[in-house]
Amino acid sequence: MIEFDPLDIQICLRAGDDVAEHGGAVLPPIAQASLFRKATMEELHRDLAREHIVSTYSRGTNPTVKALERTLAKLERAEACKCFASGMGAIGALLFGLLKAGDRVLFVGDIYGPTLELARRLEDFGILHDQTFAGDVAAIAPLLREETRLIYVESPGSMLFGVADLPGIAALARERSILTALDNTVATPLLQKPMELGIDFVIHSCTKYIGGHSDALGGALLGPAERIERIFYDAYMLLGAVMAPFDAFLFLRGLMSLPVRLRQHHADALTVARYLAGHSAVSRVFHPQLGLEATMPRNWRGHSGLFSFELADGSLARAMAVANHLKLFGKAVSWGGAESLVITGHKREPASEVPPRIPAGLLRLSIGLEGADALVADLEQALA
Ligand SMILES: *Cc1c(COP(=O)(O)O)cnc(C)c1O
Repeated sequence: MIEFDPLDIQICLRAGDDVAEHGGAVLPPIAQASLFRKATMEELHRDLAREHIVSTYSRGTNPTVKALERTLAKLERAEACKCFASGMGAIGALLFGLLKAGDRVLFVGDIYGPTLELARRLEDFGILHDQTFAGDVAAIAPLLREETRLIYVESPGSMLFGVADLPGIAALARERSILTALDNTVATPLLQKPMELGIDFVIHSCTKYIGGHSDALGGALLGPAERIERIFYDAYMLLGAVMAPFDAFLFLRGLMSLPVRLRQHHADALTVARYLAGHSAVSRVFHPQLGLEATMPRNWRGHSGLFSFELADGSLARAMAVANHLKLFGKAVSWGGAESLVITGHKREPASEVPPRIPAGLLRLSIGLEGADALVADLEQALA
């Protein structure tokens, strides 16, 4: 099952005044400019006080980036959006902009590694965190403390694909006046709309499905207008992880084809996952829609093309050998493009272990657009 309205993208892309602004261009042109001249000094002073909405200097606002922000805000049903040079830029600005010494963050789910590394760095500045893999309210409630300011969730996660009870978490957080954020990268803005469930902030790495062509890095932070404005001045403008106008253009271009790409990624991933689930060399498949990990949450319109599986011979050496035998799957990090990719658990550096929850014999696949038959045949020969 995959259920979304492909018209959603077109409506959101055409919203706003871009057509009038850009002489009818279907995609807004690239405003390759670092600064914007004003007619008078008075106008310049006025615009400097509202840099979050008016193009004055491109470290603040740029017309092409603004067009992407407007589109993503509409797609996510958010009041406001700010785009960044990468997903980590957006996550960094959220944490720096929102938290102060003494605050705590509760991380829920299968959190992206660098996000946790950033949280560890923040300990040096007096911002502490707690963590749980379980995404249900019963597991989360006892971990909330007086100082908890933010619940940060990843659902579905991007290695083991666990799903959290988002409406339940949002309701619990509201009761305690705690803010909530969700990294929605795996689901894309088409398959899950967290704002409609009461989540306060949504994060995207545009680098993945939104771009979709493995050629641009970007991130987005969405939320209430007042809060995004504060984060704009308190973190974004000061940290400087700015999205380039050309990249904003590529993401708008990517969004146009997201509905068709997503349907294909979804269907082919499900075919490949079902094949693997029936293979004797495979012990487990982590694909949230196969019903092996969890039931489909009510807020969710289907899964994209990313999933993982564990070998029955669960060693890292065997997982690496299988990955090396794959011909169609690129050995690479990241995901969301036209080419299929594979990655095993790995050690980033001698001091940091593979997170213990990730089984040694795990392979994660990003299913591209080569067609399910060719991908199944490739896995067949690699597992033989
Ligand atoms: C890739 C990714 C990020 C980070 O995004 P970048 O654009 O690489 O900085 C954050 N969260 C998830 C789930 C990701 O997959």
